[in-house]
Amino acid sequence: MKVKNIELKGNKGVIKIEDTDVYFVNALRRIMLSKLPKLAIDDVIIYDNTSPLFDEIISHRLGLIPIPTDLRLMVFRKDCKCKDKGCPSCTVRYTLSKEEEGVVYSGDLQPEHESFKIKEDKIPIVELSKDQRIILEVEAVLGTAENHAKWQTILAPKYSLEPTIEVDKKRMDDVKEFIKDLPKDLVELKANKLEIKDITKLTVFESYLDKGKIDFITIKRDPTKITFNFETDGSLSAKDALKESVDIIAKKYDEFGSLLKKLQ
Ligand SMILES: [Zn+2]
Repeated sequence: MKVKNIELKGNKGVIKIEDTDVYFVNALRRIMLSKLPKLAIDDVIIYDNTSPLFDEIISHRLGLIPIPTDLRLMVFRKDCKCKDKGCPSCTVRYTLSKEEEGVVYSGDLQPEHESFKIKEDKIPIVELSKDQRIILEVEAVLGTAENHAKWQTILAPKYSLEPTIEVDKKRMDDVKEFIKDLPKDLVELKANKLEIKDITKLTVFESYLDKGKIDFITIKRDPTKITFNFETDGSLSAKDALKESVDIIAKKYDEFGSLLKKLQ
């Protein structure tokens, strides 16, 4: 397996892999979806709520706010030395107290430590009118999406097989005529080779082929060359999310390997 290119910018990641197969990339995708841990608000104590929303709706909204997560510092509460009591190694606490008229945002949650300040600070929680108030305390803990979707870090991870566009060389006149009517930023003809300008628009190009019932251009996909795209909700950077997911896969293969050794 060769990793040809990795682009990790903020919350977004693109990896190009060659000499691989869809089974491996799909394993990475599934690990990212269900096994990657992150912090999410799991416990809410509401002291006062005279806002128009029920306690339950506010708690649900709080649960979906991305909480900055450093996986090198935090441990699962069930595995913590505090034995599920809640300590700084496994639990992050926030308070929220607002009485003025206006929208209460995620950024109004005040952390115990500045490092846990909410980055996505403009997520609306509730709108307060005159004389309404909300006072609460929350606890965020590590979890994974296999228990609840609020712990899902990665949004819509997807992979695509590298396409090659083949043209019938004997029908180049038809090819030229066909691409003349396509949007200008879609494909380019270079020395009898048709290339897609922006890979994300491949399905658009395919829909033109389908619509015109074109039989002189075919798209073939190579299952050994894969581009994998993913994005985090902001609780982890793309780099940390990828690193942790790869560690989880490696651990799983190790466990399986030692299980096989025991059988021999
Ligand atoms: Zn603890």
